[in-house]
Amino acid sequence: MPISPQLEQIATATKGFMPPDEALALFEAASSARPGAWLEIGTYCGKSTVYLGAAARTVGAQLITVDHHRGSEENQPGWEWHDESLVDGESGRLDTLPSLRRTLRLAELDDVVTPVVGNTQTVATWWRTPLEFLFLDGNHTEQIAQHDYEAFARHLVVGATLAVHDVFPDPADGGQPPWHVVQRAIASGDFEESSVTGSLRILRRIAPVSS
Ligand code: SAH
Ligand code: MG
Repeated sequence: MPISPQLEQIATATKGFMPPDEALALFEAASSARPGAWLEIGTYCGKSTVYLGAAARTVGAQLITVDHHRGSEENQPGWEWHDESLVDGESGRLDTLPSLRRTLRLAELDDVVTPVVGNTQTVATWWRTPLEFLFLDGNHTEQIAQHDYEAFARHLVVGATLAVHDVFPDPADGGQPPWHVVQRAIASGDFEESSVTGSLRILRRIAPVSS
């Protein structure tokens, strides 16, 4: 089933970093995932969250989306992906949480999506819930990208889906950490690749977590 025109329109109007073909591939991958808990790392203003949330609604899953809402390095003043309109007047810092709230309200996804406002390093210390779907789209430094994979992919059950965004095998196209994460996942023998759309990679867990 395709995404509803109404939700697609809301997602298109939401600020973010997800081209339409990759967003639809993400929606499709999520639509064939099983119900249960789904986790998104890197919410920003909720663009990808609408696609995942729309799929979660039809499948009967619950989506948790994690972000400290202060932006990544490249979103800070003076950097390429800085958006002045997202700066909070009082603190002078980037704050994408109000935009996310608005997105979820417009998309009527408040009952399907639970935002968690925090660092992935902090959330990882208490996260225990097995996952049917994981979307990695947070910090793209080598250290944190590897951390997010290590901390959360281990909660994916066999048959669950791992989606990784901004995967660029050619350094000329973009930063390498997400590509390193995909290579690591496949080399571990725990995952196999099921599709590639632009910089979006969809993998499936084929082996249980070894503890
Ligand atoms: N999925 C979004 C884009 C996410 S951008 C979309 O579709 O548009 C990456 C996000 O990761 C930013 O909002 C940033 O605040 C968040 N982020 C970066 N490092 C983080 C960390 N260590 N913990 C939690 N969130 C982080
Ligand atoms: Mg991204």
